[in-house]
Amino acid sequence: MGVIGYPVKHSLSPDMHEAAYKALNLNMSYHAFEVHPDQLDAAIQGVRGLGLLGLNVTIPHKIKVMPLLDEIDDLAKEIGAVNTIVHTNGRLKGYNTDGEGYLKSLRPLIGNDDKMRALIIGAGGAARAVAITIAKYGVEEMVIANRTKEKGLDLVESCHKFSPASFMTLNEAESQLSSFQLVINTTSIGMSPNINEMPISLEKLEEDTIVSDLIYTPLKTKFLERAEEKGARILGGLDMFVYQGALAFEHWTGQEAPITEMREAVLRQLKGGR
Ligand code: NAP
Repeated sequence: MGVIGYPVKHSLSPDMHEAAYKALNLNMSYHAFEVHPDQLDAAIQGVRGLGLLGLNVTIPHKIKVMPLLDEIDDLAKEIGAVNTIVHTNGRLKGYNTDGEGYLKSLRPLIGNDDKMRALIIGAGGAARAVAITIAKYGVEEMVIANRTKEKGLDLVESCHKFSPASFMTLNEAESQLSSFQLVINTTSIGMSPNINEMPISLEKLEEDTIVSDLIYTPLKTKFLERAEEKGARILGGLDMFVYQGALAFEHWTGQEAPITEMREAVLRQLKGGR
């Protein structure tokens, strides 16, 4: 198994998956393969040729890999990107576990409450996976706020199939913050080394709102620190990362993923200075 990306050498996935194989005593291994965009086709043929069980796919290959596969799962089609390939008897099927991974990490905070109004800040690749999945499975109404309006409107249209969705500017989102029960930062604002930046001001945040950030470097962004100070319930990006990997593991092996060991392996890497 492995992950393809360009560049990919800082990926935390090999350590996380190797920890899972070790915990379950599986005779498997996982590698990071740096695949130049010109070689994507050959790399995918190589999955069939080498008989790999599958691959994870990361930036910049998540979209371009889709036409090279034999079948795409419905949710991955709706998101428009694949992060996991499963190889069965020469056939390759693409999935996207990012959104489901996020929803799994969110579940302990929302329970089965499906009456939430959610604000998604950002409309990039991660936003698409998260917004479309929670619109499909978890949230009553979505608002997308993004710097570039066209990209925001595009995501609104994709979510609309599953729940009412609309666009707001970042300023409008700031001033109407008290109308949301769930606020998710999907932008890279606040990611290391720019740890003092925030995507929007939280001045109007109500106590008990759920505030979440997909970033996991740092584990607690300034956005989450401020939210916690205002009495919000907070969720960082680490568990999303672990669960997207766990779901891929389960597709490949049919076994339940050892979440604790996978999470610990990622934390060890992060604390080691990444
Ligand atoms: P992306 O496709 O490049 O999208 C970036 C988004 O951030 C866009 O909406 C962009 O707005 C917005 N943005 C960036 N800089 C901005 C600024 N200075 N002001 C306003 N908006 C800004 O990136 P991505 O792949 O979605 O990743 C986004 C974040 O999610 C990253 O921090 C990544 O580490 C994290 N992530 C976490 C996980 C996880 O498992 N926890 C998984 C995937 C990604 P425009 O549209 O206007 O450019």
